[in-house]
Amino acid sequence: MIRQYELVDMIKAYHPNVDEDAVNRAYVYAMKMHGSQKRASGDPYFLHPLEVAGIMTELKLDDATIITALLHDTIEDTPATYEEIERLFGTEIAKLVDGVTKLNQIELQNPESKQAENFRKLVLAMSEDIRVLLVKLADRLHNMRTIGFIKKPEKRRRIALETLEIYVPLAERIGISKFKEELEDMSFEVLNEEARDSIITRLSFLRDEGEGVVERIIKELEKRLKDSGVKAKVTGREKSPYSIWRKMQRKNISFEQLSDIMAFRATVADTQECYHTLGVIHELYPTVPGRFKDYISIPKSNGYRSLHTTVIGPENQRIEIQIRTHEMHEEAELGVAAHWAYKQDGDNGGEQSGGPKYRWLRELMDIIEHAPKPDEFLENTKLELYQDQVFCFTPQGDLIELPNGATPVDFAYAVHSMVGDTCVGAKINGRIVPLNTRLTNGDQVEIKRSKEGTPNPNWERFVITGKARARIRRFIRAQQREQYSGLGKTMLQKVYKTEEYEFQEKDLQNLCRQFRCDAVEDIYTGIGSGHINARDVFKAAFPDFKASADTPTITKTKSVNNATHKNKGKNKGKSAPMPIKGLIPGMALHFARCCHPLPGDRIVGIVTTGRGVTIHTTECDTLEAFADTPERWLDVAWDEENDTPEAHIGRLNVTVANEPGSLGTVSTVIGQNGGNITNLKIVNRDLDFWDMLLDVYVRDIEHLSNVIAALRATPEIASVSRTKGR
Ligand code: MN
Repeated sequence: MIRQYELVDMIKAYHPNVDEDAVNRAYVYAMKMHGSQKRASGDPYFLHPLEVAGIMTELKLDDATIITALLHDTIEDTPATYEEIERLFGTEIAKLVDGVTKLNQIELQNPESKQAENFRKLVLAMSEDIRVLLVKLADRLHNMRTIGFIKKPEKRRRIALETLEIYVPLAERIGISKFKEELEDMSFEVLNEEARDSIITRLSFLRDEGEGVVERIIKELEKRLKDSGVKAKVTGREKSPYSIWRKMQRKNISFEQLSDIMAFRATVADTQECYHTLGVIHELYPTVPGRFKDYISIPKSNGYRSLHTTVIGPENQRIEIQIRTHEMHEEAELGVAAHWAYKQDGDNGGEQSGGPKYRWLRELMDIIEHAPKPDEFLENTKLELYQDQVFCFTPQGDLIELPNGATPVDFAYAVHSMVGDTCVGAKINGRIVPLNTRLTNGDQVEIKRSKEGTPNPNWERFVITGKARARIRRFIRAQQREQYSGLGKTMLQKVYKTEEYEFQEKDLQNLCRQFRCDAVEDIYTGIGSGHINARDVFKAAFPDFKASADTPTITKTKSVNNATHKNKGKNKGKSAPMPIKGLIPGMALHFARCCHPLPGDRIVGIVTTGRGVTIHTTECDTLEAFADTPERWLDVAWDEENDTPEAHIGRLNVTVANEPGSLGTVSTVIGQNGGNITNLKIVNRDLDFWDMLLDVYVRDIEHLSNVIAALRATPEIASVSRTKGR
């Protein structure tokens, strides 16, 4: 177990100005918090955060990261809270610990390759500070080192698979090959111990056969380079079992053919020397074509720089050689951590300026900016920042990737268009939420569906994905067509009945071309949406009718502004009123704002081009304006079977006594009677009385009458009347 002073010494070795007091307090606090908790191995739990902190010192990380490592499991597993950590260690550390805690809470429930990429993105999106990710990687590294203590084989496999699919690529992405290789090898051992053993056996056979071949090659390389005037330190090693196995899989080669198993590295003073060394090696040994890579002039997206080449080297062995400077080597081993540590050394007081956190990001951006291809650059920018994406889980643990700002409706459509179409509600992390709630990273989203559910036109206002928007619009268009078509047919039939002709759909077949329609259905839709005049269609069907038809129409027109029921009487009740049923408000149907019709009122519809039908009360003054266009009048009736009554606006003219509390009384009385005030306008105010207009949400005319009666019974209220004007 690393002792308190030992940990401090480990940090001091690379960072002499360490805040000893803070590190010591974190050590004691974590030990106290974890108390008697035990690991699967039977060891005290505290050993784990301590080891993770130790790993962080290997990367020469700053005090905040070491302290975060010590505290990383306290919020999740002990009584410690964010607030307490913030109070004891400051906001920066509290946020870092919180970040690691959140990462721990989004375990991949469904380890599958197609999920892995999204999950990696989620992890990156959630580790806003790269130090969170580094602690998480070290946490995983230590957990993998002790995975043997986990009893259940399935659990070991799940953890190993997750490590291989998620954390290995992440370690690679940020350039920490040290973590990457160890994690990879440990996962390989859990997932395919047999293959690993076979490779190790084969390696040791080759080693015995060659007897010190690695050492001999190193010697020869060093000597021949020196003779050519190059000062290089050459190291050599066998490739890792996992990388060999991957290669065998990729190239479909057998153990017997396995030869390319040694990797050598020449470390030199500067970049120029790298190319010089390469030249010398290519002069000395035949190269293997297609194996040369220059990652110095074009670094990998994680910042990796090196020259790679494969030659038929000493003893006719096929060997891979990497050529790099000392600095490049350190970076390759430690990734961004090394990069950062370099800058840290020559940078005084950076910590006071609140710099480190942002410096990480800047450094990372720096590396990303050196990425060769623009698309790769973009991908990496997204990987690190992801401000434009959000990742959410289905209840089954699948990850769904959405643009930032997405709602449960977007989520539902992303799962499947049918799920979107039938969505009626949503739960986020088990709680019911409005459908326009913005999703956040790691949310678990459950969509409530109903067989009868249909897309709601209002959704269009808040969805942000193209797929959701397209589906909703498509549905609205289809609905509108259907409604306009039904409406148009009714309107045309009305003309027929007025003229006492029998309506026959087949007569219309021949008119399609004339009205530029593909089918009779389209004629109806045209009439319903107001683009085709119903009378024109009728006249086209009966060209001879013209003379006798016009006269009665004009007479009727004149009588219209009296009242619609008269109009209806003239038709001798032949055309039954069209129910509003099925017309969705806001689509083909609008309620006039001049008279606020309520269920129970006598109503009439006015057809407006491209907007469907506007419903007015039969007493509305506005109707006069339509006196000359009888074809636009539509006899409509309330849908009495509607079992889900919608709220309608009723407008009241109220006069109350000008005294304290009277306004409150008005709203109380309305509220008690189930009305909801949506608008209030004071139109006149004198010494004794206030006159105002109140818009109240009610079910129907009866409901409004009850509200009015209750108001009239209130002493402070002088008069109440329903108003159908502006
Ligand atoms: Mn842990």
